[in-house]
Amino acid sequence: MSGFEVIVLGVGDTFTDKHRTTAALLHCDGFYLAIDCPDTYRSVLRSAVAIAGRELSLADIDHFLITHVHGDHMNGLEGVAFFKRFAENKRVRLVTSPEVRSVIWDQRLTASMSTLWDGQQYKQLGFDDYFEHVPLSWTDAITVGPFTIRARRTVHHIPTSALFIEAGGRTLGWSSDTAFDPALIAFLEPADLIIHETNLGPAHTSYASLAALPEALRAKMRLNHYTDSFDTAASNIACLREGQVLQP
Ligand SMILES: [Zn+2]
Repeated sequence: MSGFEVIVLGVGDTFTDKHRTTAALLHCDGFYLAIDCPDTYRSVLRSAVAIAGRELSLADIDHFLITHVHGDHMNGLEGVAFFKRFAENKRVRLVTSPEVRSVIWDQRLTASMSTLWDGQQYKQLGFDDYFEHVPLSWTDAITVGPFTIRARRTVHHIPTSALFIEAGGRTLGWSSDTAFDPALIAFLEPADLIIHETNLGPAHTSYASLAALPEALRAKMRLNHYTDSFDTAASNIACLREGQVLQP
């Protein structure tokens, strides 16, 4: 048995050449829930668990929560779903909002995943051949294994879920990609640990706006999704690193 743990898989943005793109793996009592799915997922996982000193592979993870369909957050999903189907004869439990569900197959994955050559003929496959949808709700908590998950829509280019997750009596707030949003900060604030993004542009949160938050809030906040040029040593909020394991 273990309590709630957050294993950091990636901390960078879509332009990074220093880091993996932002993602984490949540763990409680032997159950794993992936938050977002960067490209070359098995390699990302292997690197992080090597640093963390864990024994863990994709076969241990069946649940993937996708916050939004920007590539840096979901480009690995095709490979993960192929692996689950062909290597494990399983479907991915895809935890995501109705808005993401409505586009993730028809506008993202269908081009590469809907036709398979079986050596004799072309076969058509659909979403349900690879995935089982577990809907996130904007109004009610949902339960995934030991995790109770509340979602809140962020201010971003496309529908994106921030998360408030409870397990084992501890709580994690996850901003996801978002412009600075005081209402979102209020949503995340009760959590024992808050993981917040920072990056450039109107659809992300500037470091300056987070650095101005009260010290008690910053003390339980960690940053991810930062640019390669972000000065992590000078930040007055601690920055996450790949392979870190945190206990909310
Ligand atoms: Zn994004």
